[in-house]
Amino acid sequence: AAVEGFDIEDVEGAIEEAGHGPLPVLAVVGRPNVGKSTLVNRIIGRREAVVEDKPGVTRDRVTYEAEWAGRRFKVVDTGGWEQDVLGIDASVAAQAEYAIEAADAVVFVVDAKVGATDTDEAVVRLLRKAGKPVVLAANKVDGLSGESDAAYLWSLGLGEPHPVSALHGRGTGDMLDAVLEALPEAPEQTFGTAVGGPRRIALIGRPNVGKSSLLNKVAGEERVVVNEIAGTTRDPVDELIELGGVTWKFVDTAGIRKRVHLQQGADYYASLRTAAAVEKAEVAVILIDASESISVQDQRIVTMAVEAGRAIVLAFNKWDTLDEERRYYLEREIETELAQVAWAPRVNISARTGRHMEKLVPGIETALAGWETRVPTGRLNAFLGELVAAHPHPVRGGKQPRILFGTQAGTKPPRFVLFASGFIEAGYRRFIERRLREEFSFDGTPIHISVRVRE
Ligand code: GDP
Ligand code: GDP
Repeated sequence: AAVEGFDIEDVEGAIEEAGHGPLPVLAVVGRPNVGKSTLVNRIIGRREAVVEDKPGVTRDRVTYEAEWAGRRFKVVDTGGWEQDVLGIDASVAAQAEYAIEAADAVVFVVDAKVGATDTDEAVVRLLRKAGKPVVLAANKVDGLSGESDAAYLWSLGLGEPHPVSALHGRGTGDMLDAVLEALPEAPEQTFGTAVGGPRRIALIGRPNVGKSSLLNKVAGEERVVVNEIAGTTRDPVDELIELGGVTWKFVDTAGIRKRVHLQQGADYYASLRTAAAVEKAEVAVILIDASESISVQDQRIVTMAVEAGRAIVLAFNKWDTLDEERRYYLEREIETELAQVAWAPRVNISARTGRHMEKLVPGIETALAGWETRVPTGRLNAFLGELVAAHPHPVRGGKQPRILFGTQAGTKPPRFVLFASGFIEAGYRRFIERRLREEFSFDGTPIHISVRVRE
C-alpha cells in the first residue's frame, strides 16, 4: 500500500521515529580522571570535544543524545569538573548530586586500576540515598589481565561491576545493554508520576540575574527567612508554590539557593545545575537581566532550553532600574540576540518591587498550552494544502518540490513530519514553521519539523 508514492510502512516508521516522547536521562558520575568523559564520548559515538577542552576550561554543554540498540536517551556528562574550587570530596559530591537528581539511571565509573577510594564510597552513599538504578562501570580494564581488578569492586555493594575500557571500547556494549535495562522507556520524574500533578517549572538564568530573588518573592517573605536560617541543612529540592490560585512545582530550587557557596568561579556547576533543572521541568522560565546587555551566556541558556524541547517564558528582570535609553537598546538586542525564541511569551518584571509578578502565570500557561497543542491531521493537511497552493516552493533544476501531506507525530513539544516530493530548502522550511506558528498558536514552544522525501 502507498500514499502519494510513499510506502505506508515508511510513513508509519517516520511518524513513530519523530513521535518519540521526552527521552530518559542517564548520568555518568565518578571521581576526576576515572574516564567519565572518555566513556561519554564512547556512548554518544561521536568525537565531540568532551575530553580535549580540559582542564579548567568552562564547558557549557553537558547533555548529549545517544542511541543504543535502537533506543534513544540523553547522557549527562559530569566530567567538566574543576579541581581547585571545593576540594575533591565536595566537588565530586556536588556534581554527582546534581546529575543524579536529574537522572533516571546512573553509570558510576570507578578506575579499576586504582580500586575504590574514600571519594568513591562517598558517591556510593549518595547513590544509595537517591535510590536510582545504578550500573557500575569498572573502567580502564584494557585487557584480560584487568578483569580481576574489576571483580574487587563487588565490595562497593552496587552489584556486578562491568569491566570496560572507555578508551578502546572493550566491554562497553555489554555495559550499555545493562544501561538499557536500568533506564525506563520514558523519563519517570518529569512525565511519568507527574501526570495530573502540579506543573513543573525551572527557574533558570545566568548568575545574578535574580533567580533566588524571584523565587523568594513568589514563595513569600516568611519562607525566605526560614531558608536562610536553615543554612547548611539541605533544602527540599523541589518547592510547591501557589501562584495565581494554582499550585506549581518549582524544580531544583535547592540548586538556586545553594548557588552561593558553589558558584565561586565554578561556572561549570551553573551549567550542570541548569541542565538538571531543565531536564526535570516542563516549562523553563528564563531570567534575563534587563539592565545589562544580553550576553552569550544568556543565549547558551536559551539554547539549552530550546534543545531540551521545553516550553519557554522569557522574564526580563530588574525592570525597576531601566531608563528610557536602556529600554530602547534592550528592544534592539532582543530582536537580534534572542531571535531564536521570538515566539516565547515575554514578561518584564522586577523581583525586587514585585512589578508584573501577576503576568508570570499567564505567560507560563500560554507556553504550556502551545507545548501540548495537537493539530488534528485533517486540519493540518487542509492548512498545508492551502499554503502550498498559495506559496509554492521555488522551482529547482526544472522541478518543483511539493509538500504532499503531513502529520503531527507528537507533543511536548509539538513534532511534525512532512512528506515531500523533493528536497525542501531551509528557507521554505522556516516559512512553513512560521506559518504553522501563526495558524496554530505555538507560542512559547519549540517545534520540530522533519521532512521525508519520496524516493
Ligand atoms: P574524567 O575526568 O573522569 O572525565 O576522565 P577522562 O575521560 O578525562 O579520562 C582521564 C584519563 O584517563 C585520560 O587520560 C584518558 O585517556 C584516560 N582513560 C580514560 N579511559 C581509559 C581506559 O579505558 N583505559 C585507559 N588506559 N585510560 C583511560
Ligand atoms: P541569582 O544569582 O540569579 O539567584 O540572583 P540574585 O537573586 O541573587 O540577585 C542578584 C542581585 O540582583 C542581588 O543583589 C539582588 O538584590 C539583585 N536583584 C534581583 N532582582 C532584582 C530586581 O528586580 N531589581 C533590582 N534592582 N535588583 C535585583
